[in-house]
Amino acid sequence: MKRYLKLLQGICSNEKPARGPFFCSISLTQRCNSNCTGCRFHSNKAVRLPGAGQDIAFDIVDNLLRELHAMDTSTLLLSGEGEPLLHPRIFDITRRAKELRFNTTILTNGKLLNERSINTCIDQKVDTLQVSLWAATPQTYIRQYPGADTEDLHTVLAALKKIAALKKARRSLRPRVNLHCPINRNNYREVAQLARLAHELGCQKISFAPLVTYHGRFASDALTPQETTALITELKRLRNELAAEKLANNIPLVLLQYRVTKENGWRVPCYIGWYHTRVLADGTVVPCSRCSIPLGNLRKDDFTSIWHAEPYRNFRKKTSAKAFADILEKTSDCNHCCFAENNLRVERAFRYVRPFLSKYQAR
Ligand code: SF4
Ligand code: SF4
Repeated sequence: MKRYLKLLQGICSNEKPARGPFFCSISLTQRCNSNCTGCRFHSNKAVRLPGAGQDIAFDIVDNLLRELHAMDTSTLLLSGEGEPLLHPRIFDITRRAKELRFNTTILTNGKLLNERSINTCIDQKVDTLQVSLWAATPQTYIRQYPGADTEDLHTVLAALKKIAALKKARRSLRPRVNLHCPINRNNYREVAQLARLAHELGCQKISFAPLVTYHGRFASDALTPQETTALITELKRLRNELAAEKLANNIPLVLLQYRVTKENGWRVPCYIGWYHTRVLADGTVVPCSRCSIPLGNLRKDDFTSIWHAEPYRNFRKKTSAKAFADILEKTSDCNHCCFAENNLRVERAFRYVRPFLSKYQAR
């Protein structure tokens, strides 16, 4: 409760946070061993990163973790503009994260998960492995990963089975496994099959994510309005089915995300600058994975200074005052925002405070 009051206290100040971010996403590397069709970094529609191929330096992450710990950040998402398990010191990073008691999730495509890496995750008590998969069948797999062999699909499915088996053998509940499935035109009819796979392979959760077109670059893979309607009907049916199976899922968030578009007139402000931060592999700090506004770089400054400095404060001031579509059109693609639920939650709390604040500020 105290954490949330401090969050609101910051928002009332309009720009100065009274606490650190609740969660931080760190991109460990720009390298990847895959080429998922909707990937803005590694697909054939990708815009290559300047200096692509960098890994984040261990010392930068180590210092960052210490600062975040002091700022009462609780959750870490270890991701990439690539595959985080390619980082040569990934398990030194997770060890430090767990020593500092962060709730730690690794986001991976699953291809490098083997007995050794899975056992390390169990030993270190990594909280969650989020394994992404864009296809439930070999036919769809070939379309979603151009040039890939369907053997890769079997490798990922075998890794998921292995995690369940090793956890059982070692009587460990961690890592929890979340099968994560971005949805596009090629796989929107497979959501029930993907959920079945998750259930059969012993995953604890299935999550879906609407395709992001990145200002139209991936528009050819996006659903038509009719396909979106069909998907929403199917997701609502699946939500009821999964409740009976006790497979955790994010379907309520996905249904909300499909409402979050400029065309639908979504008007909730963006509060991301108050509760989350993202660090890229080259040390750049940005507010979220969809927003390219650089707010500082950890190769030059420490995180605490960046969090309190002018660029971050300006970002917060602008985005928490107006609807996202008005502010971020050029620098972000906010359609289907994955933080919509969090922004809505903050807005619901803040709307009671706002009228008193306006009166106070007018004096
Ligand atoms: S695994 Fe992630 S980073 Fe790699 S190609 Fe797929 S979406 Fe891109
Ligand atoms: S996608 Fe846009 S609206 Fe959503 S959190 Fe990021 S910047 Fe804010």
